[in-house]
Amino acid sequence: MPLSIAIIGAGPGGFYTASALIKSHPDCRIDFIEALPTPFGLIRGGVAPDHQSTKAVSRAFAKTAGHEGVAYFGNVRLGQDVSVAELRDTYDAVVLALGAPMDRELEIPGGDKPGAFGAAAFVGWYNGHPDFVDLNPDMNVERVCMIGNGNVALDIARVLVKTPAEMATSDLPDYAAKAIHGAPIREVTIVGRRGPAQAKFTNKELSELKDMANCVPLVAPGDLTKDLPDGPNNQMSERDRRLAKKNLATFRDFARRDPTDRRKRLRFQFYAKPVEALGDARIEGLRLERTRLQNGRAIGTGEFFEIPCGLVVSAIGYRMVPIKGVPIDAETGVVRNRCGRVGPGFYAAGWAKRGPTGVIGTNKGDGDAVAALIAQDAGPGGKPGREALEALLRARGVRWVSFQDWQRIEAAEIAAAEPGAPRRKLIRIKDMLAVLGQDSAESQAIADNCPCVIGRSGNISQE
Ligand SMILES: Cc1cc2nc3c(=O)[nH]c(=O)nc-3n(C[C@H](O)[C@H](O)[C@H](O)COP(=O)(O)OP(=O)(O)OC[C@H]3O[C@@H](n4cnc5c(N)ncnc54)[C@H](O)[C@@H]3O)c2cc1C
Repeated sequence: MPLSIAIIGAGPGGFYTASALIKSHPDCRIDFIEALPTPFGLIRGGVAPDHQSTKAVSRAFAKTAGHEGVAYFGNVRLGQDVSVAELRDTYDAVVLALGAPMDRELEIPGGDKPGAFGAAAFVGWYNGHPDFVDLNPDMNVERVCMIGNGNVALDIARVLVKTPAEMATSDLPDYAAKAIHGAPIREVTIVGRRGPAQAKFTNKELSELKDMANCVPLVAPGDLTKDLPDGPNNQMSERDRRLAKKNLATFRDFARRDPTDRRKRLRFQFYAKPVEALGDARIEGLRLERTRLQNGRAIGTGEFFEIPCGLVVSAIGYRMVPIKGVPIDAETGVVRNRCGRVGPGFYAAGWAKRGPTGVIGTNKGDGDAVAALIAQDAGPGGKPGREALEALLRARGVRWVSFQDWQRIEAAEIAAAEPGAPRRKLIRIKDMLAVLGQDSAESQAIADNCPCVIGRSGNISQE
């Protein structure tokens, strides 16, 4: 019997797993179960709206979705519409590729004041992710602090300081463009505990800051002479050393810039750790402690200073949302697994497996590994799979979205785009479902089977 495999989550981790399985088990049946009507995970909801070329990988994923034997069940949430136990009963193999969608909290006094956000929420807001479109950050601020020294911090800072003309070829939703471009932002500071040589920025993203129309990148020259890649304080791999040298060359360029050259400034504040969010009713600033490196670790020096700011976004890591039946490691915040194996017939891939590290392509190795594990473990197959899932969803009145349905939603987004922009994103699930009307195969089937109403989540519930 062909194997029936459920992949939960249609981001890169899920799609790389599906394409590896298509190669290793050409006759298997693969069903994607995805919480949103829209596929591609963080490619749509995380990757910066002005980095459209990075999103192009989703075209290859769409081909995988169109493969015979692959089906897409969008708008179906694990833990809400269907349980882990039900899927494990129904499928020969279940792969968790749910990502790690929750922010790690900024654990400092005042870190939960209004005006402080995690990067998952803030990026989700400006990327039109349905879970975050109502975040409504108060953008009436002149100064912003970003906490974290990875590409996510760079993305957010860049999106906040670019001009409307620079964002014209992006898919930044209208409400976010209005809020960001109407904000009186003059300065964004990116804060890191360690030095420029230890920052995780890729040089391509860092170098992009050289040529912004209205913003000058700045760094203190004194920070560029400490803890150098070849110095005694650094036990770096050869790869990290090469990256650090490239980044230092870029920072040297920033250190020579004239701060009055452009209207906005993007400052890199190295060797500083936030210790308190200041303000009464909302954030008015950050108190920080200067640090120095000792054996690669940032140690507080006992010297403190403050940066005034009305908005703080922390990009300090992600973890998973707890779901019954998904074992989550308390320390790492991701699925407890051994090289991708969670239990019999139960696997993990992508960020859910290894945590929030690496680029889109890094997830390919996880997909290959899961396909190899499934080949190793495979029993005779024969669990009911897709038909049983469809029956279960119909009985619950869940309106799922097929891949063809998603392509109709996408066509509507492309048709509504401003000239030069790739799409105008639909940001509410009800508006996505409205594009499909009553004529999608699934809604017709549901209508035939039960009297239903469309609920707030966009799912259909029994009247
Ligand atoms: C802000 C940001 C910017 C990034 N920019 C880049 C970049 O420019 N270039 C690059 O190479 N990499 C970038 N990355 C990294 C890249 O996006 C990740 O490596 C990749 O998306 C991880 O894939 P994943 O499938 O594990 O998780 P995700 O992409 O998060 O996909 C997980 C999927 O699971 C779904 N899901 C979650 N919970 C449930 C549930 N209960 N039921 C059903 N489905 C569920 C989600 O809706 C989502 O579609 C960025 C990451 C972030 C956070």
